[in-house]
Amino acid sequence: MYPAQFEYEKAGSVSDAIDALSSNPEAELIAGGHSLLPTMKSGLADPDMLVDIGDVDELHGIDHGDGSTRIGAMVRYADVADDDTLREEAEVFAETAHQIGDFQVRNRGTVGGNIAHADPASDLPGAVLAADATMHVAGPDGERTVDADDFFHGMYATDVGEDELLTAVEVPHEGTAGAYAKKPNPASGYALVGVAVRLTMDGDTVTDARIGANGVMDHGTRLPDAEDAIEGTSLSADSIEAASDAAGSTLDEYMVMEDQQASAEFRLQLLGAYTERALAQAGERAGVL
Ligand SMILES: Cc1cc2nc3c(=O)[nH]c(=O)nc-3n(C[C@H](O)[C@H](O)[C@H](O)COP(=O)(O)OP(=O)(O)OC[C@H]3O[C@@H](n4cnc5c(N)ncnc54)[C@H](O)[C@@H]3O)c2cc1C
Repeated sequence: MYPAQFEYEKAGSVSDAIDALSSNPEAELIAGGHSLLPTMKSGLADPDMLVDIGDVDELHGIDHGDGSTRIGAMVRYADVADDDTLREEAEVFAETAHQIGDFQVRNRGTVGGNIAHADPASDLPGAVLAADATMHVAGPDGERTVDADDFFHGMYATDVGEDELLTAVEVPHEGTAGAYAKKPNPASGYALVGVAVRLTMDGDTVTDARIGANGVMDHGTRLPDAEDAIEGTSLSADSIEAASDAAGSTLDEYMVMEDQQASAEFRLQLLGAYTERALAQAGERAGVL
């Protein structure tokens, strides 16, 4: 199918993009276009103007700071996955980007588009929750930051307002090891279930755990039950099994995703299995298992 007619504008700066969004409530940003164009072609979205942010310099680049790394919204997954320094600084984020889709998707899709689109089956929402990232948002009233924990509101719904854009994601250099384990949809690569883990260790004791899951609820969500079960334990196959058994136990079972691809019951089974895999991999990387 062809999309309905639309106007096209190339933004030269973040403030250009904000002006375009503010003056036209039907305008939509386009970044990689990998989610937006299919929805336009299928008729699910029909913006009357596309504001292309691809050439906005402020949205590009990975800046390695002392305590955190700032990743511009227009940075492609491939650039994140190929950045060895970022892998050392924020393993869970880099590892997750590496597992998105295939080469074509990783060369086109953007960090900002993925997180702002907030598809429940996308991979980066769980990663930013596990990484305890901060989102940088700009709008007519200036810039503001939002913690990952407060960013995702629901299916395709985030804290970014209609006339705002996500400009960058800031990932702290914290944690001893990270990992991402997912059961991909065999056709698209999207997560049926994906679990992102960041562990902070003192010897073999887990002093802090952050676990984010994709594909289970209508938006990326933390797993506090599994985090509580693993924190304070000496990391072992037994403690990982206990945390995996706990994974999802506090989720509202009536809100667990259910569709043609997987029932809610199957997703919860996958959640336990993939929590176990992600924790075990993080433990191996931490040199404990
Ligand atoms: C075949 C295929 C396989 C895929 N597999 C996976 C997968 O395995 N895992 C996965 O996570 N994703 C997957 N995707 C999705 C892909 O990663 C998309 O690129 C991503 O979801 C959206 O990023 P984008 O840059 O393409 O955004 P676009 O499609 O350009 O935009 C998506 C939405 O976000 C808005 N937006 C974009 N940038 C910003 C911004 N900076 N601030 C505010 N709003 C913004 C747009 O207005 C639009 O509404 C797949 C896509 C395809 C086509």
